[in-house]
Amino acid sequence: MSKPSCYAVFGHPIAHSQSPRIHQCFAAQTGITLSYKTIDATPEALSTTVHHFFTNEGGHGANVTLPHKAAARALAHECSRTAMRAGCVNVLTLLAGGQLAAHNTDGSGLVRDLSARHALQLRGKHLLLLGAGGAARGVAWQLLETGIASLTIVNRSPAAADTLADMIGDVARVGTRCWQDLATIGPVDIIINATSAGVFQQSLNLPTTLIGAHTVCYDLAYGASARLFLDWSQAVGARRTLDGLGMLVETAADAFELWHGLRPATEPVYQALRSTC
Ligand code: NDP
Repeated sequence: MSKPSCYAVFGHPIAHSQSPRIHQCFAAQTGITLSYKTIDATPEALSTTVHHFFTNEGGHGANVTLPHKAAARALAHECSRTAMRAGCVNVLTLLAGGQLAAHNTDGSGLVRDLSARHALQLRGKHLLLLGAGGAARGVAWQLLETGIASLTIVNRSPAAADTLADMIGDVARVGTRCWQDLATIGPVDIIINATSAGVFQQSLNLPTTLIGAHTVCYDLAYGASARLFLDWSQAVGARRTLDGLGMLVETAADAFELWHGLRPATEPVYQALRSTC
């Protein structure tokens, strides 16, 4: 009997990852047999560990998460447009001939979660993006492609926000502000928290004036990491508060489709995870 095709997620730490569970659910749904494991790789060991997985362990594809998303791009021979402009990747795929292709599914996953799962209208909306790290770079372009009216990028280190805005170059719709100026911009339609502050249980110290009765607050993180920002948003009157669990499932579905050519149904998997996360 042939061995099942082999997939993995690389991170450090990685034990908490939901990716093996998500991919096994997709596999069961679509009748595909696969193995999917977590691989804890330090930044120093990433290159050799990834190489070993694809050349010696029969790896067909891998997800990449913190802190490797930028470094993983350098391991690939081909880069999709989304990975290129984000400067970081979350999917590696083995090509014929042993080379690797890199892709970034963060933006498509977020937009599908916002629009399809949560039925949010993005066109014409004014968005505030908190953070300018890998995830923010992964989602910014795709948010703009939905027809939003404006994207204001704010980052703790302002230079990174300026760099991201410059890379996007859509000066009519994209601007940056300093964190200290947030009190002057008034309520926004949608706030996307793409910082990792919640992962470290750090408060963002945001002014309550950002939140109006119509404001929707979305945290890319989920579980305990999303609670500080979402609890604060709810307490100061946000209309809706949403975490990134659905985005996680949608980005995984994109990777699954890339590898297997089949689109899994995400809602049952999202609901199963929701009951435990
Ligand atoms: P990075 O390390 O690349 O970036 C972290 C960002 O957070 C930087 O902009 C950093 O600012 C900012 N930051 C960190 N601490 C603070 C703080 N105390 N106050 C204000 N800003 C802070 O991480 P990622 O971009 O990869 O991930 C960001 C978040 O998105 C994480 O919570 C991650 O789990 C989540 N994520 C969720 C996904 C999903 O599928 N649901 C997918 C990808 C990410 P500075 O530049 O000043 O350091």
